[in-house]
Amino acid sequence: MAKTIYIAGLGLIGASMALGIKRDHPDYEILGYNRSQASRDIALKEGMIDRATDDFASFAPLADIIILSLPIKQTIAFIKELANLDLKEGVIISDAGSTKSAIVDAAEQYLAGKSVRFVGAHPMAGSHKTGAASADVNLFENAYYIFTPSRLTSPGTLEEMKDLLSGLHARFIEIDAKEHDRVTSQISHFPHILASSLMEQTAIYAQEHEMARRFAAGGFRDMTRIAESEPGMWTSILLSNRETILDRIEDFKERLDEIGQAISKGDENQIWNFFNQAREQRQAMEIHKRGGVDSSYDLYVDVPDEEDVILRILELLRGTSLVNIHINEENREDIHGILQISFKNAQDLERAEHLITENTDYTVVVK
Ligand code: NAD
Repeated sequence: MAKTIYIAGLGLIGASMALGIKRDHPDYEILGYNRSQASRDIALKEGMIDRATDDFASFAPLADIIILSLPIKQTIAFIKELANLDLKEGVIISDAGSTKSAIVDAAEQYLAGKSVRFVGAHPMAGSHKTGAASADVNLFENAYYIFTPSRLTSPGTLEEMKDLLSGLHARFIEIDAKEHDRVTSQISHFPHILASSLMEQTAIYAQEHEMARRFAAGGFRDMTRIAESEPGMWTSILLSNRETILDRIEDFKERLDEIGQAISKGDENQIWNFFNQAREQRQAMEIHKRGGVDSSYDLYVDVPDEEDVILRILELLRGTSLVNIHINEENREDIHGILQISFKNAQDLERAEHLITENTDYTVVVK
């Protein structure tokens, strides 16, 4: 039976979800709320939604499922507002917020006793882009889509949500809201703090040491990429997960002190172990798989910086399906560009390795 879905917030996440829902459920009616007209117009024009409003309360009573895809503070404000609206019996309310406890607590507080269901959710995909103009039907492909069930998540709710979101091609997973916030504080929130601090420290340093800007290369770029994230979103993430993040900061200070002391004592062993342990731990982690979620088979080709070299390799690989191709450009004169090509399976990887080594004199490394 066709359902009516209401997505509040037609930003990157909300509009991408609309596209994903339409992919598997073209018969569902999707209603959209957005504060600004620009994203409403894009979402309507591109057929992401069927009807749009700037009055949040007006469409809520029509919906079988409501998804709030707004900043955390606004998500909570709308949950409060939903508690006072005349909603459909058994409507499912969900969200997309990057932290979960504050939102789930608010839902449990305001929606308890009403004939509504609620399940907190965090689609773990995104980028620094914002607005419906950046929407992408493949944004959630293979990404974890986390549900944080609570008392208001009655039986059947998750199944309905998974069916609704099947077109996202995401990987659904369930976890307790508090545990979600602890885990993400370590692997997402705290790294953002570090990246931005490092960026800020370097910018200040570069005022006195101008060459710092020019010499900053691959390692620095990898460490600071996420410092380009949207400031408003990250402010609300930190403010809605304060305790766990402060705990991670304190823990890290101790680590910095420890390595600082080893350096000051000239303790070669300790310093070596520090690097070696981190190297081993990183190699054992899931991030060595594509996007942290799906395994891929990677091959590295040491290519010279010459015209058409990449085209030549791709020509050799005609007929082999690649999942990704990446050029690791280090701005060091003495090393060749490393071309990284990822394949879906071991056979394709082997075939490519064979073709490249047979037909070129480039060094090929398989990892
Ligand atoms: P976005 O900036 O692209 O969209 C945010 C939407 O919220 C816009 O439609 C905007 O008009 C609306 N909005 C903002 N303030 C509002 C207010 N005061 N009143 C009414 N509407 C308001 O952001 P996004 O990336 O789509 O993020 C939406 C949610 O998804 C956030 O909770 C974010 O934490 C979460 N999220 C983001 C990412 C990511 O990487 N972008 C990933 C996972 C989850």
